Amino acid sequence: MNTTKVILLKNRPSGKPSSSDFEFTEEQVPEINDGEILLETTYVSVDPYLRGRMQDAKSYVPPFELNKPIHSGVVAKVIATKNDNFKEGDYVSGMLDWKEVQKSTGEELHKVSKDNAPLPAYLGTLGMTGLTAYFGLKEIGKPKEGETILVSGAAGAVGSIVGQIAKIKGCRVVGVAGSDEKIEKLKKDFGYDDGFNYNTEDDLNAAIQRTCPDGVDIYWDNVGGELSDAVFFNINQKARIINCGAIAVYNDNKVPTGVSPQVFLIKNSALMQGFIVSNYMDSFPEGVQQLSKWYGEGKLHHEDTIVEGFENIPQAFIDLFDGKNTGKMLVKI
Ligand code: NDP
Repeated sequence: MNTTKVILLKNRPSGKPSSSDFEFTEEQVPEINDGEILLETTYVSVDPYLRGRMQDAKSYVPPFELNKPIHSGVVAKVIATKNDNFKEGDYVSGMLDWKEVQKSTGEELHKVSKDNAPLPAYLGTLGMTGLTAYFGLKEIGKPKEGETILVSGAAGAVGSIVGQIAKIKGCRVVGVAGSDEKIEKLKKDFGYDDGFNYNTEDDLNAAIQRTCPDGVDIYWDNVGGELSDAVFFNINQKARIINCGAIAVYNDNKVPTGVSPQVFLIKNSALMQGFIVSNYMDSFPEGVQQLSKWYGEGKLHHEDTIVEGFENIPQAFIDLFDGKNTGKMLVKI
């Protein structure tokens, strides 16, 4: 292989991203120098947060540059090496470009083994999404036995793990997702106690009251928007609201408006806190260890939606905004 395919950000999306925001190009496969490795991409993670990085706006990470490769979580195979820490055939995970083949110094990449878990799990349950669920719950949610947790985006990568960890902690777990099939799956495969489809409920407040008759002690918010507004009316004393994501408004071109939360937070002495998983980077080894233990014990069901083909990476990303995935959305190359 002399050339490799590359995906560049062509336009900053306005509203929902479209395939015209991405450009495919080819470049020479690079020569590796001493200390470098050549990597062949195996799995690419597509994630809602990449939408934010496509905006030219101040955030916790710099925006992607136009006409430069997009990057995200990737599992790749070492196909040539001039670095003693890696041998041919090793698999690594880390933040890498959307390229079929690329070189790296190996810094900030982690070796992963097919013997311990299927490779996709390192981009989901045992990777960034699992760590997001683990630290958001541990550090902000602080679940206690018998409490009710409501999870939005419940059937997705983060939500499916949040529910299962909350269940391990003895909570009553209620999920919100975008189809009846997803709600069935939440109960059957992810151990949720109840749930509802936000697309078919006329009154979101009533749906929360019906499925959370004792009120909401913890709200794990993956979506923001109208659903999260309705949750304020149902929180209990000392409730914790974990702002993990707001996918319902990521494609809005203007600042979203909605319920003002202050009064609800004051009268319930409630906490509402946003976070970014990298806040807990120093503790990642502890998180990976605990997630791996639960996974090994069969307490965490891991599920992926796997799309095949490098050329389908942009569409897989766009499909996140139409709820086409259950569990982690990945592209197999
Ligand atoms: P998911 O696997 O949950 O995929 C996105 C899901 O969002 C879709 O499957 C869809 O499910 C749902 N969705 C799409 N559009 C809407 C909408 N308009 N309203 C409600 N739901 C919608 O993605 P992740 O698990 O990777 O991420 C979940 C959230 O967590 C995202 O908001 C993401 O940005 C955030 N996140 C935050 C991190 C942090 O460090 N704070 C780290 C990782 C993720 P459905 O069919 O149910 O609509």
